[in-house]
Amino acid sequence: MKIRGIFLDREKNTENSLTIAMPTPERVRVPIPRDGKALVKAGQWVLTGNVISDGAVPAHASVSGKVEEITVIDDPSGSYEAVVIKADEDQKEAAVRVPRADDRESFIAAAAASGCPAAEKLAAAKDADILIVNGLESEQYVTAEYRCMLDDDKLIAAGISLISRFMGIEKTYIAVAADCPDAAEAMQKAAKDIKGCEVLSLRPDHPGGAEFVLVNNVTGRKSAPGESAADQKVLVLLPSEAAFLAGYFETGMPMVKRRVTVDGDLVKTPCVMEAPIGSPYSALLAYADANLDPAEKLVIGGMMTGKSVTDPELPLGKGDNAVLIFMKPLEEGKGTLKDGCVQTNCIKCGRCMRACPVGLMPMRIEKALIKKKKADLKRLRPDLCVGCGSCTYICPANRELAEVIRKAQKMLAGKGGDEA
Ligand code: SF4
Ligand code: SF4
Repeated sequence: MKIRGIFLDREKNTENSLTIAMPTPERVRVPIPRDGKALVKAGQWVLTGNVISDGAVPAHASVSGKVEEITVIDDPSGSYEAVVIKADEDQKEAAVRVPRADDRESFIAAAAASGCPAAEKLAAAKDADILIVNGLESEQYVTAEYRCMLDDDKLIAAGISLISRFMGIEKTYIAVAADCPDAAEAMQKAAKDIKGCEVLSLRPDHPGGAEFVLVNNVTGRKSAPGESAADQKVLVLLPSEAAFLAGYFETGMPMVKRRVTVDGDLVKTPCVMEAPIGSPYSALLAYADANLDPAEKLVIGGMMTGKSVTDPELPLGKGDNAVLIFMKPLEEGKGTLKDGCVQTNCIKCGRCMRACPVGLMPMRIEKALIKKKKADLKRLRPDLCVGCGSCTYICPANRELAEVIRKAQKMLAGKGGDEA
């Protein structure tokens, strides 16, 4: 049975924007992976593409220039180290080597050395027999993958050929939202000669691109609680990840930049740009003519699943697909920006339950959380939440249910509450 989601108003201001390159920022702070440490020191000169950390998926200098320091950054997801590089005028690239792969192991090792987070998915899905290229981008404003399908269609096709050859996968589905026929057509054309590759136009509902939902809807394979796509022998990658890997095996240039949507009511020129990893969000916003002064909300990623941050100087990460900035909370019932909306009591309409793709009962979880009933919470399984935000979006009483679920998860992970 297919898992159905909710329909969000289609608000994609930048879907017709060509991707532009952001000018080199004055300074970048390149995040170091949590399992790694910096391999460079203050005062050292680096070129774009030089390795600057170890770790399973290392970091690379995204600009050329002088390392100023190794710093610690605090953001809503925790603390991490970053290499601060002051960009020089010349912007020279390192002499990188084109990687070689002879088999699955060497392919995965090369992908990891590229700094691409997809390497972890490749390593986890060694037994996969299906590849899904996830072009469903259901959240409002975000267009980075959509633009990738239109601008980098040939690279995506080359990436699919490469990945399926080395991973031993014979069946590939490219999943595209049915309201993006031009992206589906571009993918059809680019992938027409790839054996076993099929383009699927799927309902543009949310969270159709969540792995759990996608694997179920495309392959019919159902995940048990806590299982990943890899457990179902499915490898799910984004179009941009397939395109990046193809480019990397062609040029050897590691992951030093990414495509980002910059939008929101304070952005005069909403656009899609390619920006160096570690650029301050403020630099992207400045290039898009955004006015930061009256900003009330800065969201990194989609409005349903993204993170709210307060510091525009935080650095762009490899997984950040959008930088959205707003002056006013959006009108009632749109996205998670409900700050200005009045919360009322639950009217027991059951909409949050029907919207939940994993069958949770957010209103009951909220009740158990308020009463600190840990035993009830355990039974209600907030740990299965995929963080799609649909419950918050759909609630007529404006309850911040997704936030409630996160709090419930924390309570179960830690101490506090009543076991009875
Ligand atoms: S959608 Fe909101 S009002 Fe309706 S049952 Fe859920 S929490 Fe209550
Ligand atoms: S409980 Fe979690 S998975 Fe279910 S709708 Fe809410 S955010 Fe999505």
